[in-house]
Amino acid sequence: MKQRTLKDRIDFEGVGIHTGEISKIILHPEPENTGIRFYREGVYIPASPEFVVNTFHSTDLGSNGVVVKTVEHLMATLHLLGVSNLTVEVQGGSEIPILDGSGYLYYRELKNRVVKQTEDVQILNLEEPVVVENGDAYIKAFPHNCFEITYEGEFETYFGRQRFTFRGNVRDIILARTFCFEHEIEFIKRKGLGKGGSLENTLVIGREGVYNEGGLRYQDEPVRHKVFDLVGDLYLLGMSVRGKFISYKGGHTLNFELVKALHRRLVSLEV
Ligand code: ZN
Repeated sequence: MKQRTLKDRIDFEGVGIHTGEISKIILHPEPENTGIRFYREGVYIPASPEFVVNTFHSTDLGSNGVVVKTVEHLMATLHLLGVSNLTVEVQGGSEIPILDGSGYLYYRELKNRVVKQTEDVQILNLEEPVVVENGDAYIKAFPHNCFEITYEGEFETYFGRQRFTFRGNVRDIILARTFCFEHEIEFIKRKGLGKGGSLENTLVIGREGVYNEGGLRYQDEPVRHKVFDLVGDLYLLGMSVRGKFISYKGGHTLNFELVKALHRRLVSLEV
């Protein structure tokens, strides 16, 4: 598989779900072996595990005191498209626009702009199982010749237990939105987060149903979104991964534990 970038620059603008700030991002094509990186206030921040500064309710990157918040949905979209070289310039606010809460609007605008470059991409093949845990939550990764993610969640509301397996069909996850449960909103706001959240960009789940007009996009939309988040967080490795992943109640923090574990293996292989 060849490295890829975009054929020309493209901008997006919108509110950040946590900061409520309006940001403009400009995606600049880059030559081979640049990798994915962010650029804000004169600082380049590589999309790499060493630069992760927060995983509480979003995955944030930072360097030299400059932070870019909530990179995961854009990263997931770039992963799905195989875009390997790009600079994402962030202007105005510090957060990547949430748009409709899914990857759909990014995907729609980017998919016809992707161009192949000449050099091959690196692919991480798992050689042995890797497990990370936190309480009863875990992510298990197994060697496999394709990229497959299963997510299982247990939700207090009428959703109950849900499980979804992604086997590479983008349409199965690209429309799945960020979600929150009605009973969590106060906690999220108290933590100073969710300032830009609304029914325009978040699936809000109540005790008996969802508040969004039009309802759900998939009957198991939350677990599909969780898969999408993991697709994004895994791309912090800077390469596509082959393996079978099973996440039980995982979130960004556990996703990042897995990324760090995989990254350590990579580094030790290269030494
Ligand atoms: Zn998400």
